[in-house]
Amino acid sequence: MRKKFVAGNWKMHGSLAVNLGLLHALREGAADLPAQVAVCVPYPYLAQARSVLNGSAVAWGAQDVSEHAQGAYTGEVSGAMLQDFGCRYAIVGHSERRSFYGDTDVVVAAKYEAAQAVGLTPILCIGETLAEREQGVTAQVVTRQLEAVLDRCGVASLAQAVVAYEPVWAIGTGKTATPAQAQEVHALIRARVARNSAAVADGLQILYGGSVKPGNAKELFSRPDIDGGLIGGAALVASDFLAICAAG
Ligand code: PGA
Repeated sequence: MRKKFVAGNWKMHGSLAVNLGLLHALREGAADLPAQVAVCVPYPYLAQARSVLNGSAVAWGAQDVSEHAQGAYTGEVSGAMLQDFGCRYAIVGHSERRSFYGDTDVVVAAKYEAAQAVGLTPILCIGETLAEREQGVTAQVVTRQLEAVLDRCGVASLAQAVVAYEPVWAIGTGKTATPAQAQEVHALIRARVARNSAAVADGLQILYGGSVKPGNAKELFSRPDIDGGLIGGAALVASDFLAICAAG
């Protein structure tokens, strides 16, 4: 039985003052929930997340990681640096990184590898755009994105990773994939992993992301292959995020 996992992706939001209330509310509110809970905060707030969440049920992580271990890479942040701040997770391949910052499948696989190299758990985001869905190539797109990682790191690596299926057309748009639409793609992802290893596929947490809200979380999370969510906008409001966590 896979444990449910709900991770917040704060994106480029927050301030020391605003975060403080949110982090304390999560620390208290998530104490007795059955689901695993994490927040992925902007880099400058990792120290604050660590100081408030240390010893709590809420883990923390970053929203990206460099594919390089160290060196002359101005503006980059390495996995070891994230480790220094107690991160457990690093999101890799979020569609905003892929579309605005040119993270290709190859770069995403390298970031995934770099995260694992220092013991971080990558949250690998995959998902199709609206145009790709309308062209009927959703399965090909998510399979290609997944295979970039399988080819580079092998199926065993997915035993120390989380996959998030995030249809790009559902992110921040208020348009959630229906539970049936999401389940269909989650099942397809799990079946692709099972071709290489049934055991890894069976244990893999596959999160859904894209306009998850307190009102739709329970129905999504009740589907057999949906193991929780990656939450953007609703992760910025403590009561909403905790309600989503409680649905897990
Ligand atoms: P959203 O974002 O919940 O605001 O749609 C999800 C994500 O981008 O991870």
